[in-house]
Amino acid sequence: MNVEEALERMKEKGYKHTTKRQEILELFARDSRYISAKEVLDYMQSRYSGLSFDTVYRNLSIFSDIDILEMTELEGEKRFRLSCATPHHHHHMICMSCGRTKHVHACPMDTLDPVKEEFEITDHKFEIYGYCQECKTTPVN
Ligand SMILES: [Zn+2]
Ligand SMILES: [Zn+2]
Ligand SMILES: [Zn+2]
Repeated sequence: MNVEEALERMKEKGYKHTTKRQEILELFARDSRYISAKEVLDYMQSRYSGLSFDTVYRNLSIFSDIDILEMTELEGEKRFRLSCATPHHHHHMICMSCGRTKHVHACPMDTLDPVKEEFEITDHKFEIYGYCQECKTTPVN
């Protein structure tokens, strides 16, 4: 998803377009990786001093409610990234160091037929954590 699509979705859902919201979306669009709420706050406060964590966090929750952002929790911290534009069902491998993701096109649900019979599944979540090639080969300082 890009910033234009995200703004369009926001409008459809009845949320007002504001410069701050657009700047948050642009931050995510620049870098396709998981970013913590704290990083978003630091960035926004460097532009608007005195902007509160609540304001930033409220916007991140709205964006994730209307599926503009995907949310995950890494090391006890909520992190966000722009939702993938692809309509194909897939999962992510997430780098614990830089937050970048890679797509996994296999789905573990495909192997769970017996479970499907005894439980009406409405959704599922599957993420693989580790280190990307780049982070793995960079010596830790
Ligand atoms: Zn994806
Ligand atoms: Zn990495
Ligand atoms: Zn799946």
